[in-house]
Amino acid sequence: MKALVYHGPGQKLWEDKPKPTLIHPTDAIVKITKTTICGTDLHILKGDVATVEPGRILGHEGVGVIEETGLSVSSFRKGDHVLISCITSCGRCSYCRKGMYSHCENGGWILGNTIDGTQAEYVRIPYADTSLYPIPSGMDEEALVMLSDIFPTGFECGVLNGEVHPGDTVAIVGAGPIGLASLLTAQFFSPAKIIMIDPDANRLEIAKEFGATDVINNRTVDVMQRIQLLTEEKGVDVAIEAVGIPATFGICQDIIAPGGRIANVGVHGKSAELHLESLWSKNITIRTRLVDTVTTSMLLKTVQAEKLQPSQLITHRFALSDIISAYDTFSRAAETRSLKVLLTNS
Ligand SMILES: [Zn+2]
Ligand SMILES: [Zn+2]
Repeated sequence: MKALVYHGPGQKLWEDKPKPTLIHPTDAIVKITKTTICGTDLHILKGDVATVEPGRILGHEGVGVIEETGLSVSSFRKGDHVLISCITSCGRCSYCRKGMYSHCENGGWILGNTIDGTQAEYVRIPYADTSLYPIPSGMDEEALVMLSDIFPTGFECGVLNGEVHPGDTVAIVGAGPIGLASLLTAQFFSPAKIIMIDPDANRLEIAKEFGATDVINNRTVDVMQRIQLLTEEKGVDVAIEAVGIPATFGICQDIIAPGGRIANVGVHGKSAELHLESLWSKNITIRTRLVDTVTTSMLLKTVQAEKLQPSQLITHRFALSDIISAYDTFSRAAETRSLKVLLTNS
């Protein structure tokens, strides 16, 4: 089969690899029908993720059809359409029993990291019963690719950890796919204001179309001043950090109101400063999380009920075999105005 293989920093090839086979009785082999590229894949290609070894097939998102199941897989059989979760969970370890699948002792984020991933014609999924979701017939499978990672991440790490309540003022720092997924799912809770902060004017336009009540271009506007104006000098109830650099975590600390919640979604590669000298008395909460994908079934229902349209985030479409061009488009997001690229294996 063909697959996108990482060969060390800056190097990737679309090349022949052996088709995966069942290793454990809990495995399933899935034929990928649609997949996408994540910002995390770009981090891997920069050499930022030490656990990914050369020779690894990348990708942790996608939908497909079951090709083969191990003897102990009971929920799925050949021909079933499935959504692949970016998080693999054994369902049995102490973390899984707490619903903290991201820290599963036998899984977690392993796809396209420590085992071969979804940017291929076929993928082996360990613990298939607890790591795959059945796709109800008639659903738009393209949209569901967005539910492998970005929507559960934006919702769980951003909206749920930020405890968005009706009437809240929410600021989302970073209008990339994850920030936009937080924007779309924050609206489940009817906040009064959602303020999007980003230096890219195109992304801020999209944010407005997706329901942001206000946008701030932090390249041209003083964020603090604008937030003071928009919030009667109070600050925001919820600040969602969806970038992962010290400066954007700094913005969240600057704009948080007393009693507010800072929810970190961004993947931080460097230490960020914590301003306890100004925050110690403000009754705030700071929360971090790796997506557990505990809300995937719920999100599936909201898509089915047309309360959420995840395909809004798809800006470009490619054949899976054209994945090198897709990476090029996705990595030059500011120029190409790309959010999510969809890859179809036909
Ligand atoms: Zn991802
Ligand atoms: Zn587990």
